[in-house]
Amino acid sequence: MSIPIASPELGIGALGDVIETVEGARLADGPPVRAFEAAFADYCGRTHGIATSNGTTALHAALRGLEIGPGDTVVTTPFSFVATANAIRLCGADPAFADVDPRTLNIDPDAVRAAIEVCDGDVDAILAVHLYGLPAEMDELREIAEENGIPLIEDAAQAHGASYRGDPVGSLGDVACFSFYPTKNITTGEGGIVVTDDSEVADRVARFINHGRSGRYDHDIVGHNFRLTSIGAAIGSQQLRRLDDFVEIRRRNAAAYDRALADHPSVSAPIEPSGTHHAYHQYTVQCSARAALQEHLADADVDTGVYYPTPIHRQPAYADVEADAPEAERAADRVLSVPVHPTLNRSEVRAIADALAGFEP
Ligand SMILES: *Cc1c(COP(=O)(O)O)cnc(C)c1O
Repeated sequence: MSIPIASPELGIGALGDVIETVEGARLADGPPVRAFEAAFADYCGRTHGIATSNGTTALHAALRGLEIGPGDTVVTTPFSFVATANAIRLCGADPAFADVDPRTLNIDPDAVRAAIEVCDGDVDAILAVHLYGLPAEMDELREIAEENGIPLIEDAAQAHGASYRGDPVGSLGDVACFSFYPTKNITTGEGGIVVTDDSEVADRVARFINHGRSGRYDHDIVGHNFRLTSIGAAIGSQQLRRLDDFVEIRRRNAAAYDRALADHPSVSAPIEPSGTHHAYHQYTVQCSARAALQEHLADADVDTGVYYPTPIHRQPAYADVEADAPEAERAADRVLSVPVHPTLNRSEVRAIADALAGFEP
């Protein structure tokens, strides 16, 4: 059997505790949801948390909470999971893609400035992604957002537990969104959350994900049902208590691969710029002979993943969006992720490190 690229673990006895937590509580939108929202917001150093049905609905609701809608433009990265851009489109707004920095593969602040210029300054928000768990260049992005008087949103779906200049992701912009899909750093099965310090935004998000409800049968806006279940929230609260440990193991595994790849002639390791604390949601190398590397790892029974083989602006669904993003295109041809998750055992980590080191193109 090969070493899987993701392997979420709930832990011995976890489900028993979850049943105890939700027994007698409302299964939908009950106290376990409120408890998880408060705990997760607190972890991020934020005052408000609104749990959602998944990360995509968190992004959608966050944008709506910022009153992004038809006719608006949101600058974002073309090198992410498609949900990042879909959330913009689902609000009726348009994405403007700014290319990535080839070293970090996160959105390049200079490209953001250029994209805003191309739009004649008519841009309504910046949506940055902390790709693979590495925080984006938030100081510069915040400066650009402030100069333009627009909000900065974090898509932190891959970055729970990462930090930037000592501050946790989720606290770095105006609003942040997380996903709790099973492959993410922590899971609720399906789930997500929006965190913010802005109580007006929080209130709009909370109403939007709950039928636009202000009272039991009072609806001031048209909303969705994007709520998290109480069972998901109970799992999430347990997972949150283990998040720092999970991230530490990811970082230890990553360090073993870094050592194996030091001075490798054809495979470059991911970087962790000073001031960032990478959560290593993925350990993603770059290699111009990616297909050969992938085959070599498969021969060593190591599963790999390509995140993402097609930049969003090259997807048919975004054929109408013009974008100049050569670095994203180059990255899409070169990236390869190897298993780095906390359920790997020592010998698996060693096997992956040895396989990486032993690749000859
Ligand atoms: C997973 C992910 C999402 C979407 O989250 P879901 O819970 O799968 O809807 C959005 N953005 C990024 C960067 C992701 O990795």
